[in-house]
Amino acid sequence: MPDLSCDVAIIGAGIIGTSIAWHLAKRGLSDVVVLDKGEAAGTGSTAKAAGGIRAQFSSDINIELSRLSIGEFERFPQEMGVEAVFNQVGYLWIATTAEHMKLFEANATVQRRHGLSIELLDAAGVKARAPYVRTDDVVGGVFHAKDGYASPADYVMGYHKKAREKGVRFLFGEEVRGREPGALVTSSGRVAAKRVVVAAGAYSGKLGERLGVEIPVVPVRRQCFVTEPVEELPHPIPMTVDYGTGVYIHSESRGVLVGKAEKDEPAGFNEAADYGFVERVAPLAMDRVPVLERAQPKTVWAGLYEVTPDHHPVLGEAGDGMWVACGFSGHGVMHAPATGMLMAELLLGRKPPLDVSSLRLTRFREGKPIVETNVI
Ligand SMILES: Cc1cc2nc3c(=O)[nH]c(=O)nc-3n(C[C@H](O)[C@H](O)[C@H](O)COP(=O)(O)OP(=O)(O)OC[C@H]3O[C@@H](n4cnc5c(N)ncnc54)[C@H](O)[C@@H]3O)c2cc1C
Repeated sequence: MPDLSCDVAIIGAGIIGTSIAWHLAKRGLSDVVVLDKGEAAGTGSTAKAAGGIRAQFSSDINIELSRLSIGEFERFPQEMGVEAVFNQVGYLWIATTAEHMKLFEANATVQRRHGLSIELLDAAGVKARAPYVRTDDVVGGVFHAKDGYASPADYVMGYHKKAREKGVRFLFGEEVRGREPGALVTSSGRVAAKRVVVAAGAYSGKLGERLGVEIPVVPVRRQCFVTEPVEELPHPIPMTVDYGTGVYIHSESRGVLVGKAEKDEPAGFNEAADYGFVERVAPLAMDRVPVLERAQPKTVWAGLYEVTPDHHPVLGEAGDGMWVACGFSGHGVMHAPATGMLMAELLLGRKPPLDVSSLRLTRFREGKPIVETNVI
């Protein structure tokens, strides 16, 4: 690669890097180079995501990031001229203890303050919303109709295509290995950049070490499996989350996708799928949705969450020309549109439509982490 120069270099062409690139280009800043060590856009964690999109969080900033993002997901096909199906069928969270129901009620109060139409349900209400759920031990639930799920690849392709059309340069097979004054050193050359954005997903912490910035993002394996078609279920069903066990289920090609964040998974770059996952998690899914007893598992896969100590992203300036947009802790797909908009405004030196100062990198050193209870 011949040496290049640009105004903004973005490291990572996942859904976050491509969204930032598009939002910069849309605002007239196209002197942007996106570098990715992979062979195409969206081949990192973005390719492994379950595609859940929800505003039902407990922290103000997560709710607002989702609100901004959901608007863009809804407008995406018209605005970008690409096909992107957003199954806006809601997220249904199920409580089997009074304590969990209390938490849902407290979260609903916060969410309603942000203008969300949240429905608190008793056990009969859960059954009415989701007749396929076993409810004999259910205390209640909570539902938000504007949540849902989508295919992350559609959005990455849209951002990538539209950013390229506006002149953004994408370089694949280019691993960023370090930094010299004013330039990034890659596997095959140098890219001089006034500003550098780290959007390297689960690799952001490791990359930060090479670039001289401490970024507290660690990789943690997460797994999902999909089943063969399940004709007994209506499709699409809402994203159905059994809060007690942490199992989540949504429709996928007439079958279902089942996922669960196993809390004892150690940090590390292990992306090997483990068939024991199906054995451990399928019984929990069948227990909540009994018709799944007749479902045949088809494929299991693993990918990496990019986890920060408080499960919120780090966004903004990191000093010395460096910027960060990473650490989404399993919510990077759903927060990508807002991240693109907000980072573009910040990089252009403007006031973003949402105050993201609480997501600054220094919050951990300052002892000001953010609390989020709705993590699965
Ligand atoms: C099983 C699973 C289920 C998930 N479900 C959901 C969900 O339902 N909803 C949701 O919102 N999120 C979900 N996530 C999380 C989501 O996938 C991530 O938050 C999101 O994809 C992060 O996007 P990204 O662009 O930051 O990272 P990535 O997609 O990983 O992109 C980062 C890119 O950086 C590149 N890169 C890394 N290091 C370098 C380097 N040194 N030089 C050049 N390039 C580099 C990589 O090649 C990669 O392409 C899930 C994740 C997993 C694993």
